[in-house]
Amino acid sequence: MNLERLQTLLGPENVSTAVEDKIVYSRDASRLEGECLAVAWPSQAEQVAALVEWARAEDVDLAPRGAGTGLCGGATPQRSVVVDLSRLTHTGPVEVEQRRVQVGAGVVLGGLNRRLAKEGLFLPVIPGSHRAASIGGMIATDAAGLRAVRYGTMRAWIEAITLVDGMGRLHHLTGDALDDAVGREGVTGFIVEATVRLAPLPAQRTVSLLAFDDEASLLAQRDKWLADPSTGSGQAPRLTALEYLNRHAAAAIGWEARPHLLAEFDSAGGEINDPARIADLWCARDGLYPVLARSGHPVIEDPQVEGEGLASLLAWLETQEIPAFGHLGLGIVHPCFRPGDDRITSLYDQVAGWGGRVSGEHGIGLKKKPWVGAAFRAEIRQLKETYDPQNVINRGKLC
Ligand SMILES: Cc1cc2nc3c(=O)[nH]c(=O)nc-3n(C[C@H](O)[C@H](O)[C@H](O)COP(=O)(O)OP(=O)(O)OC[C@H]3O[C@@H](n4cnc5c(N)ncnc54)[C@H](O)[C@@H]3O)c2cc1C
Repeated sequence: MNLERLQTLLGPENVSTAVEDKIVYSRDASRLEGECLAVAWPSQAEQVAALVEWARAEDVDLAPRGAGTGLCGGATPQRSVVVDLSRLTHTGPVEVEQRRVQVGAGVVLGGLNRRLAKEGLFLPVIPGSHRAASIGGMIATDAAGLRAVRYGTMRAWIEAITLVDGMGRLHHLTGDALDDAVGREGVTGFIVEATVRLAPLPAQRTVSLLAFDDEASLLAQRDKWLADPSTGSGQAPRLTALEYLNRHAAAAIGWEARPHLLAEFDSAGGEINDPARIADLWCARDGLYPVLARSGHPVIEDPQVEGEGLASLLAWLETQEIPAFGHLGLGIVHPCFRPGDDRITSLYDQVAGWGGRVSGEHGIGLKKKPWVGAAFRAEIRQLKETYDPQNVINRGKLC
């Protein structure tokens, strides 16, 4: 591998083979261990294209990486040069009237939303990792999150994407072509820039926190809210979040050991309207995964199941006494396991039977490849043929 050539292309300060860097970049938040050959930090699309040209000549795999918060090994290197895109941080002017802004892939959502708040706007896709996750990574995984019941996933908020593909070509994707990059976990190329749509910040927030005797009554309340979010107020409040905690998860953060629903509305509708109390509740919810991880359950999964299958999933988790929480408005549940727990396999083996998907938001990456179906494999192969025929980007991911 001719690293000197790469250092000449990018500048020696933007490429490293130092052992400490290879250790840092050998894993993402999935905790899977990979093999990192070197790390590159491009700061312009042209440098990304040059990297691809180099990788094609050397037949080396490139692993795109945003903030490394991914939970399925998508950014875990497989004898790869990790391409850290966090220096692609330019941000265009906020187009307040049109409610959109152009951002580099490395821009972090939390910082972007702090800036947008001054204009009364925000990018409303809020994953639990919002303080760290990059826009490029969120597009590549089609991130969802706490407010997806109202605002949907990243796909709904993208107007255009600039992509450097596996041949070093630059594509300006819009319309249906966005699907060639959104949720493709980097296998079709490097997202270097995107124009994202923005929403007005809600003028009001109210919250309901309800505890239930069992999952059946909890699901009945969920269905009621989803069918008619204005129930009870006459003000037509709209549901902006609908989060679930099972009794183990609730107990872990000091709440009563019963299943809970935490719902938020962007107008009257919830019984809690004190901003400090609301902030405390969301802070507790944000801290849930870290608390479970520290208590020995760091392996977080993300099946998505709707309809009757959802009741079966929740009942199975209850029987197995597995702590779980999730974005119940979309049927996304996050069971948390101890490392090496073979019930993870058992869970995913059952998901198709419950009519669900193995990933509601984290993606497939390396972890969920065994459950990928033939049609999905064929679709990815077709995309690879178009965008990365030499297979130099995220080799062996997805399928
Ligand atoms: C505590 C915690 C809570 C989380 N909560 C949520 C949640 O609520 N909802 C949710 O959806 N996810 C959640 N996640 C998962 C993760 O934060 C998201 O998947 C996020 O979108 C990943 O962004 P990233 O910048 O860290 O990407 P990375 O982890 O760096 O990469 C993720 C994938 O995208 C690819 N990629 C990254 N950048 C680019 C790019 N510019 N071009 C092409 N491909 C690229 C990588 O190769 C990889 O396949 C959570 C993670 C943690 C640790």
